Amino acid sequence: MQTADSPTPQPADSAQIPFVKLPEQGFDPKHPPEQGLIDACVHCGFCLTTCPSYRVIGKEMDSPRGRIYLMDAINKGEVPFSETAVEHFDSCLGCLACTTSCPSGVQYDQLIAAVRPQVKRNHPRSLPEKFLRTLIFQLFPYPDRIRLLLTPLGLYQKLGVSKLVQKSGLLQRFSPNLAAMESLLPQVTAKSFQDNLPDVIPAQGHKRYRVGMVLGCVQRVFFSDVNEATGRVLSANGCEIVVPKSQGCCSALPAHQGEEEQAQALARQMIDAFEDTDVDYVVINAAGCGHTLKEYGHILQDDDEYRDRAEAFSASVRDVHEFLAEVGLTAELHPITDGPLPLVYQDACHLLHGQQISVQPRQVLKQIPHVQLREPIDAALCCGSAGVYNMLQPEVAEELGQMKAQSLVNTGAKLVASPNPGCSLQILKHLEKRGDTLPLKHPIELLDLSIRGEKLEL
Ligand code: SF4
Ligand code: SF4
Repeated sequence: MQTADSPTPQPADSAQIPFVKLPEQGFDPKHPPEQGLIDACVHCGFCLTTCPSYRVIGKEMDSPRGRIYLMDAINKGEVPFSETAVEHFDSCLGCLACTTSCPSGVQYDQLIAAVRPQVKRNHPRSLPEKFLRTLIFQLFPYPDRIRLLLTPLGLYQKLGVSKLVQKSGLLQRFSPNLAAMESLLPQVTAKSFQDNLPDVIPAQGHKRYRVGMVLGCVQRVFFSDVNEATGRVLSANGCEIVVPKSQGCCSALPAHQGEEEQAQALARQMIDAFEDTDVDYVVINAAGCGHTLKEYGHILQDDDEYRDRAEAFSASVRDVHEFLAEVGLTAELHPITDGPLPLVYQDACHLLHGQQISVQPRQVLKQIPHVQLREPIDAALCCGSAGVYNMLQPEVAEELGQMKAQSLVNTGAKLVASPNPGCSLQILKHLEKRGDTLPLKHPIELLDLSIRGEKLEL
C-alpha cells in the first residue's frame, strides 16, 4: 500500500514491471497520469459548466476538476484506486470540452488517456460489463465480423421485431446497455454488405494531390454513402484517391476505452496499409477517427519499431473539411435547393475540441449556394454519443441526447449537418424520439450534391 510519503510512481521499462496488483493500491507504474500535467490545474472551476458529465450528474467528482483531484490523490497514495474512483473516471465522456475551456491549458486529454488503460489493467469488470465490452470491442472495429451479422439484423429490422422490442421495454428492463445498443442500430441496406470503392479513384481534370482515404469500420458498413460522396468530392477537386484494401479500424473505439493492445495492433495495421502508397495526405471524414489517427504517436509511444512511423503517419492525416479548406475547392458548386436552406452544423467533439476544427466545415458549407447557417445554443456540448459511451453509460447519454436534439430543433433549421457517424446515430435517435423529422446529412454529402448539381430531397 502506498503512503502519502511514497514517491509518485514513474514510468519505467515495461518489460520489468508486473502490472497485476491489488485494486486498493494506486496507479501501476506504466504511464500513470503525469504529476506535472495534474499540477497545471489551478482548480479555478472554469471547465465545470462546459463538462457534460458534470452538467448531468452535478457532482464535483464527475467534473474535470474533480477527476484531476482524484488522479492527484491516487498518484500521491492519499486515496485508493478504488471502484468508486473508477466510476468517476468511467463517467467521463472523453469529449475534451474541458481542454477547450481551461484557461490554464491543462491537458486533460493526456490525463484521461493515461487513466483508461490503468482502469483496464487493474480493475476487473463485472460479468455483464465484460460481456458488453467484449461484444463491442470484438465486433465494431472489424467490418467483416459486423457483416456476418447483417442478414439476421436486416431481417430483425424488416420484420418489425426491432420496433416490438423497443415498444415492449423488455430489453430495457433486462439490460439498459443492450437496449441502448439496439436503439442505435443503423439501417441495414444492400450497400452494407460490401465495400464499393475501387483501390484507386482518378482525379477529375488536373491532378493536384494524391491522397489516401480511410474508410472507417462502422462507417464503411453503415455509412458507405458518405464514403462514396467523399471519394467523388475529392476527385472532383483534383485528387487521385488511394483506398488500400488492407486498412482496418482506426482504433478509436478501443483507444478511448483503454483497450491498449487492441488499439496498438489496429494502429500498426493502418500505418502498414498506407506506408507504401506515396500519398501527400491521408484524409478521413469521421471526426472521432480523425482525432485518433492524429494520436498514433502517443498510442505507439512504447513501440521502437513504429514510434517514428506513427508520428509521420499522424502528420499526414487531415480531416476532410480541414483538407478542403486548406487546398481550396476547385469544382463548381450549384444550389441544392430551389430556395434558402437554413442548416445547422453539429460540432462533433473530436473535431471541435480534439482537433480545433470548427471554422472549416462551416466555411465549406457556406460555399453551397442558398445555405444559411444557424448556430445552436450549447454548440460545444457533447451529444452523448462519445464513441460507445451511449452504450456503456446510457442514462447520462440519454439526457445529453435529448438536450442536443432540443437545441438543434430550436434553431429552426431544415437540416442537420453532422461530421461523425456516432453523433449522427445519437442525434437521429433523439430526434425520432421527439417525433421530429429533421433530416441529417454529412457535410460532404451536401457538397457532393452541390458539385453534381443535384437537388436535396427534404
Ligand atoms: S482543468 Fe483548467 S479550468 Fe478546470 S479547474 Fe483545472 S485549471 Fe481550472
Ligand atoms: S472530457 Fe468531457 S466529460 Fe470528461 S471531464 Fe472533460 S468535459 Fe467532462
